[in-house]
Order: sequence, then structure tokens, then C-alpha cells
Amino acid sequence: GNLDQRVEVKGNDEIARLSIAFNNMNEKINLMDRERRQFVADASHELKSPLASIKVLVQSLLAGGINDKNISMEFLDNIDKEIDRLSNIVGNLLELTKLDGSYGLKIEVFDLNDLCKDVIKKINPIASTRNVTIRYEGKSILIEGNRDNIFRAIYNIVENSVKYSNPNSYVDVWTHKGSKAKIYIKDTGIGIPEEDIPRIFERFYRVDKTRDRKTGGSGLGLSITNEIIKRHKGEIHVKSKVGEGSLFIITLPYKFEG
Ligand code: ADP
Repeated sequence: GNLDQRVEVKGNDEIARLSIAFNNMNEKINLMDRERRQFVADASHELKSPLASIKVLVQSLLAGGINDKNISMEFLDNIDKEIDRLSNIVGNLLELTKLDGSYGLKIEVFDLNDLCKDVIKKINPIASTRNVTIRYEGKSILIEGNRDNIFRAIYNIVENSVKYSNPNSYVDVWTHKGSKAKIYIKDTGIGIPEEDIPRIFERFYRVDKTRDRKTGGSGLGLSITNEIIKRHKGEIHVKSKVGEGSLFIITLPYKFEG
């Protein structure tokens, strides 16, 4: 584009300083532009794969598969699953876009303890299909922030812990009131390889693509969580060992200073 020109002004007067500020700003815009393009490219790629599967399945039905009751049922079932995948991706994309643009976030005071209980209540039905028990311990902690967003952030991590843990196991969630508020989410599941830990918060990043085909993950959950926690000036730390499990720690300031 026409944004890649730099302004070179020699000397040390105000105009020279202005040109430096201008060049820095220009670089930032270019980087944002590249990231945006990459994001659109990645998103299109992610949407293409379920669409391609649906196309093949429909064509096989049209080519005669429809005459066989068992085949039709199996293919329709697969189409149904691919549509779920698509809506999952589109839903997450919409959420990310909304986060990008929401400058006037509604900030309220709420109890983190109640929020964690609500998150667990919502995930319990998913957990029970895997025979996973979520245990919770915590006292009342009042914090400032956008409750819906924090709900989503914690929900994504607890959902992962349930999704990536072994059947018949426990997921532990607890909170701590120190100089900041902390939420701990621990599972004894498959764990995350050390080299992947820094990357799991990237958009569309999955540790094992084949594994996640089954669980239907979009690879967007943790990037949404990361975006929300960053916006609340908080931090996320991960400790994990393959085959032993993972511990996610979210740190949040009590006051919102966004
Ligand atoms: P997904 O929709 O695939 O779960 P996320 O952004 O939520 O995407 O997570 C990114 C990747 O990080 C997942 O695909 C998975 O490989 C890994 N991951 C996240 N949480 C856990 C966990 N508790 N245990 C093991 N792996 C995890």
C-alpha cells in the first residue's frame, strides 16, 4: 500500500522528532494491517475445511448414497457435526470481533466467587457426560470489570480442563485473595507440551489438530480468554506436564483501570 513510505528529516528540531513519531506510527499501522490480513486468511482456511467436508458428503448423497438408509443417516449425522463446527467457529469469530471494538465496556462490581459457581453450573452437564467432577473452593471476592467477559474467559479455561482431562477424573477450581485476585483451574488430563505452552493463546492454535477434530475445538477459546484478561490488565500463567495435567492461573486486579 501507500503506507510503506518513511519520512526522513535530518537534524534535531521539532520536525525531525515529528518525523520519527510518524515513522513509528506508520510501522505500527503496517504491523496491524499484516496481522489483520493473516487473521482473515487463517479464518477463511478454518471455515473452508468443514465446508469442503459438507460438500463431499452432500455430493455422495446426491450420487446415490441417499438410496441407502444407513449411509444416508451416517452422512447426515456427519453433515450435522460439520455444521456444528462451522457455527462454533463463526460464533467465536464474532466474539473476538466484538472484543476488538468494545471500547465502552460496561464495568460493574461483582463477586468472583459467584461467577465461578455460575461457570461451573453451566459446564457441569458437559462434565458429567465425561464423568468428570468439578470441585470448587473459594470465598467472596469483589472485583471490578465486565462480568460477561470475565465469565467467558474463565468458562473457556474450565471447559478446556474438562475437555482435555481423562474420564472419571476431577477438575479443581479455587480462588485466592492476595494483592490481586487469583483463580486456579487444575486438571489431571493430557497436559500440554512445553514448547506449545507459549502458543496456545494464539488465534487458531491447537496442539494436536487430529485430536481436536473429535472435540470440535476452533482453537479460538484461549485467544478470546487472553484478549479479555489483557483488557482487564490481568495475567494468565500455565503450568503443564504431558500425561500429568495442567494448571491455569488467572490474576486480576480488584479495580478496573482499562
Ligand atoms: P480449542 O477450541 O481447540 O480447545 P483453545 O484456544 O481453547 O482451542 O485451546 C488451544 C489448544 O490448547 C487446544 O487445542 C489444546 O490443544 C490446548 N489446551 C488448552 N487447554 C488445555 C488443557 N487444559 N489440557 C490440555 N491441552 C489444552
